[in-house]
Amino acid sequence: DSEESSFWSRSDEYLLKTGVPYSPIIVTKAQGTRLYDAEGNSMLDFTSGQMSSLLGHSHPEIVQVVRDSIGELDHLLCNMITHPVVDLAERLGRLLPRPLQKSFFLNTGSETIEAAIKMAKCYTGKFEIVAFSASYHGLTQGAGSATYTAGRKHGGPAMPGHLVFPAPYAYRSPFRKPDDGGSYDWEAELEYGWSLIDRQSVGSLAAFVMEPILSTGGILDLPAGYLRRMSEECKKRGMLLILDEAQTGVGRTGKMFAFQHEEEGGGVVPDILALSKTLGCGLPLAAVCTTAEIERGCREAGFLWLTTHINDPLTAAVGNKVLEIVERDDVCGLAAERGAQLRAGLLKLKEKYWCVGDVRGKGLLQGIEIISDVTTRAPGTDIGHAVSDRAMELGLSCNIVNLPGMGGVFRLAPPVTVTPEEIEEGIRILDEAFAHVLK
Ligand code: PMP
Repeated sequence: DSEESSFWSRSDEYLLKTGVPYSPIIVTKAQGTRLYDAEGNSMLDFTSGQMSSLLGHSHPEIVQVVRDSIGELDHLLCNMITHPVVDLAERLGRLLPRPLQKSFFLNTGSETIEAAIKMAKCYTGKFEIVAFSASYHGLTQGAGSATYTAGRKHGGPAMPGHLVFPAPYAYRSPFRKPDDGGSYDWEAELEYGWSLIDRQSVGSLAAFVMEPILSTGGILDLPAGYLRRMSEECKKRGMLLILDEAQTGVGRTGKMFAFQHEEEGGGVVPDILALSKTLGCGLPLAAVCTTAEIERGCREAGFLWLTTHINDPLTAAVGNKVLEIVERDDVCGLAAERGAQLRAGLLKLKEKYWCVGDVRGKGLLQGIEIISDVTTRAPGTDIGHAVSDRAMELGLSCNIVNLPGMGGVFRLAPPVTVTPEEIEEGIRILDEAFAHVLK
């Protein structure tokens, strides 16, 4: 109709395009697990709004806290701290395993990585930053230089001192042994990775930045014991371990923080933890958490971070409510339970459709890898896109992630508001989409 065509012509004329094409769907309301258009048609959102609204869209208590806060307190001078900010730092500090204890608050994931990289450089006095070949840590210049899925191919050279480490891609790794039942020698690959780093490095290794599950890189779960080994290797080289839990943090994987899944050797605590997306449940809130010792070292080295919206009271009030709900409503347990149901449904699709090569992930962060050939495991890029388009038409929003030029991995990351019936509905839509594309 004319209102809709005017929407598109106005967007063409005035809204800057920043890369990927805009979606043809105009969402006018987002509630719980569903998105609605102006006619009241709904679709399931298995992306949680770019993985941010783990508690569901427009959670009534989050809406209320925004309403209450905005009338009382808005942003102040950036060195003026407020009650909601100190409350949030304390709440987070109590949730974090020691020695992690201290946090400050920003807006986006990219920003947390910029800050974490800067802190690591200040603290260690060194400058090299290592990241996985399937990493995504943001698209600003520093974070983008550590983003090997997308960040480095625009606007001239990446920042100097960024080194790449082979991601543990069990399904496709050259260290997978098809002759040996497909077993995966991640320890040999890890050693090989460090041999590459030791050759690339000029001897100034400051930090390794990684996700505990490489989400955009294809839902690559670190093998059990891997994180522990990485943490030891970083310590050995005097580097910090920065964990980016933008997507995995605050309950999505079934634990408060995904690094808590690592049980080997008494577990692992990162030196710096970056949280964003889920912490703000749809609002721009992010946190950088570290130890008192690293904080002290950074200050001595002159670390400065004083962006305008640092420690913002409105989003901090939201963060307090998010953490309150996550603890009170056992969101971790819920994510594990719903995640298990989602996974069971996806495994059935794997049995039914040859082009589903792999199902992986934890809790409500699941992925299915699409292939075009069962023997060679060649990426099924075209099938993936066709299935995703069809699923969208049938009312399921999920996105395709993975390395450019590789296959397609469907990321299924619904919010915890997803009901067992909605999970069945999502699986049924995917089933129908596969049947349609493969017919
Ligand atoms: N780290 C991870 C793991 C992410 O998934 C993202 C966003 N997809 C970012 C960092 C960047 O966050 P933002 O887009 O909020 O800057």
